[in-house]
Amino acid sequence: MALMTGEQYVESIRALHTRIYMFGKQIANAADDPILRPSLNSVKMTYDLAQDPQYQDLMTATSHLTGERINRFCHIHQSPDDLVKKVNMQRLLGQKTGACFQRCVGLDAFNAVYATAYEVDKAHGTHYFENFEKFLRYVQEKDLVVDGAMTDPKGDRSVAPHAQADKDLFLRVVERRPDGIVVRGAKAHQTGASNSHEILVMPTQAMKPEDKDYAVAFSVPIDADGVFMIVGRQSCDTRKTEPGTMDRGNPTFGGMEALVIFDDVFVPNDRIFLNGETEFATVLVERFASYHRQSYGGCKVGVGDVLIGAAATAADYNGVPKASHIKDKLIEMTHLNETLYCCGVACSAAGHMTEAGNCMVDTLLANVCKQNVTRYPYEIARLAEDLAGGLMVTCPSEADLRDPELGPYVDKYLKGRADVPTEDRLRILRLIENLTLGAAAVGYRTESLHGAGSPQAQRIIISRQSDLEGKKKLAKDIVGLKEDK
Ligand code: SF4
Ligand code: FE
Repeated sequence: MALMTGEQYVESIRALHTRIYMFGKQIANAADDPILRPSLNSVKMTYDLAQDPQYQDLMTATSHLTGERINRFCHIHQSPDDLVKKVNMQRLLGQKTGACFQRCVGLDAFNAVYATAYEVDKAHGTHYFENFEKFLRYVQEKDLVVDGAMTDPKGDRSVAPHAQADKDLFLRVVERRPDGIVVRGAKAHQTGASNSHEILVMPTQAMKPEDKDYAVAFSVPIDADGVFMIVGRQSCDTRKTEPGTMDRGNPTFGGMEALVIFDDVFVPNDRIFLNGETEFATVLVERFASYHRQSYGGCKVGVGDVLIGAAATAADYNGVPKASHIKDKLIEMTHLNETLYCCGVACSAAGHMTEAGNCMVDTLLANVCKQNVTRYPYEIARLAEDLAGGLMVTCPSEADLRDPELGPYVDKYLKGRADVPTEDRLRILRLIENLTLGAAAVGYRTESLHGAGSPQAQRIIISRQSDLEGKKKLAKDIVGLKEDK
């Protein structure tokens, strides 16, 4: 079964024994919980679209390991063309869900670990690449969702992992046994954790030799003994438990993040992909981060398309689609959104092959992509709110609209264009609210800032790769200056 259907995927998540806590209580599973189900629906879309012949080229790929057709979210990129298709697939999914569809963290982790495990083995004679290929075959064959896990809680940011007052603030190996290792710690902001079958852990930053126990990469089933998660609260999350769908803004789809805790979890030897080789932590982190920064040039653009469409519809429903300032704002939103897409495509097209044989994005351009993503969605959201008008945050609830006495007043006084039902107008405004201020704003706005690394993380890499000396030489050559001694 190299390709699961959406329904099979939902059943497979229901069958797991994942320990999920939310609002101080344990949740049975993500499939049957009203707050978590929309996020599961977003991941389900990655399966549904893969079954649709019109999207086969984008949503599926041929496994370089087995020759089988697999979901592109399980694929090791074989060429720059694969990278461009990944971005286009993410844009498509952003358009179809208007939310974070979560499966990219695993894809980006696969490709980062694949390239790095190969190089660690070459340097140390270890067997991580073989371990990883075996794991990947299993993932591809079963069509699994894997949660890529990088961000440790980090405690005091000025102190190295081994020197923290609480040694568990970075995930670490606490015991080494002949058959494997035992790990303890946590990973924060784990996108899609409740909708995943497996979790693939990587170190979070550069490590010194003293941080040996912290330089660890491995995978375990998400319901392994000792793994549990506490779901992050989102703005307006309990609206999903209310009757009706209008106030949710996005009735069907959403995203989710959790704090995932590893409370002395056993990892067998064949699931270890890095164990103490501290000098490879940096390259692994940079690869994962760069792939995920490329990802944002696809997913955020797709959600941006939905937001632009919603803002344009709100203007239509107000009866002012032709006003020049409205048209200009929509042009500006489109310009900003397509600029992000340009960055996503550019860092993909300029990709290069690694020693392991997979295709890596251009690191500088991927970081420029994400740096722009830390800014433009905010401006797109500002313009969308401008076009929506204040009613987006002051309109009464769906319960008022449905109320036999109040409903007619809401309907009468909140009408825009006479031929557009008031409810349609309010639904579009609620969608804009959801994308800019509500639950989806986690995925569209704040995640644009902090997801795949906060802005400063990209500036460090941009500065490292800016080749200022080379550029100074260009300027000096033009005016005929000699090189400085
Ligand atoms: Fe994928 Fe975007 Fe969500 Fe990251 S933020 S998991 S790239 S949809
Ligand atoms: Fe993200």
